[in-house]
Amino acid sequence: MIRWIGIGSRWNNSRTPWPKKGVRGGTPKLTAYGIDDNGTLHTKRITKIEALLLKTQLYKRKKFVCLSCRRSSIFLVKHKDEIPPCPYCDSD
Ligand SMILES: [Zn+2]
Repeated sequence: MIRWIGIGSRWNNSRTPWPKKGVRGGTPKLTAYGIDDNGTLHTKRITKIEALLLKTQLYKRKKFVCLSCRRSSIFLVKHKDEIPPCPYCDSD
């Protein structure tokens, strides 16, 4: 399962005709960045409409500190109030 983290955009100036070339011209290229379960980075070309939909489903990186074992770890969560289980406590 790929978890999408962010959306990047850049202006493609090389493939635009002359009158549109420059700061004002160019066509936007939207890419979505995501992380797999194994930790590998994935990129995907998306359209403008897909970017609007993905913006609502992005995962945020959040740091958690377990109160029982006092160890911090980083998780990807969708909502602010979500509390994931501690990986250190479950392994013991
Ligand atoms: Zn813990």
